[in-house]
Amino acid sequence: EYIDLIEFTNFVLDRFDMMIKTDGGDHQNSKAVSDFEDLNKKKYRIIRRYDRSSIWLEVDPDRLMQVIDNIINNAIKYSPEGGEIRVEIKTTDHNVIFAITDQGQGISKKERSKIFNRFYRIERARSRMNGGTGLGLAISKEVIETLGGHIWVESKENVGSTFSFSLPYDWHKWEDQNA
Ligand code: ATP
Ligand code: MG
Repeated sequence: EYIDLIEFTNFVLDRFDMMIKTDGGDHQNSKAVSDFEDLNKKKYRIIRRYDRSSIWLEVDPDRLMQVIDNIINNAIKYSPEGGEIRVEIKTTDHNVIFAITDQGQGISKKERSKIFNRFYRIERARSRMNGGTGLGLAISKEVIETLGGHIWVESKENVGSTFSFSLPYDWHKWEDQNA
């Protein structure tokens, strides 16, 4: 199935934006209700930066949803009140790069290599009673790698983290078709 990544991302982000404006509503699509109850109480600001107005990709929207949903959930969950979350989509000749930056607690170098493992959660996250099983990033990694892409994190403790993933994409193909 072909989807427009820009339109799809806006759809996902609008849902998160709605959650801070409403008192919860029904979020039947969300996997963990407790996550959303936490998020509803939290204030955050989502900033969108895209270098194109549409990017067509052949992906299963449900699987891509799992990835984006988890990374944004994490960005909110592991950030302080009022944090800013920047969502960037950039394209190169052969890849589309999706990056989500938060102003959260950050992740130490030692832990950066472990957070993509199943069930791994940093102790701080566990003790703060944040809902979660530690599967989100493991699933995200599996989905992205199945699509031929990569997922990685850059982080500075007490400054924030950027989770990025890249997917193969040939924009010349679409230019030719539009010509
Ligand atoms: P789940 O996603 O299954 O609900 P989870 O969020 O704890 O649970 P992952 O998404 O796999 O699990 O993340 C693993 C761990 O990595 C988290 O528990 C947290 O310690 C750390 N982590 C993830 N994202 C961030 C972030 N943006 N900032 C700081 N730490 C993070
Ligand atoms: Mg998670």
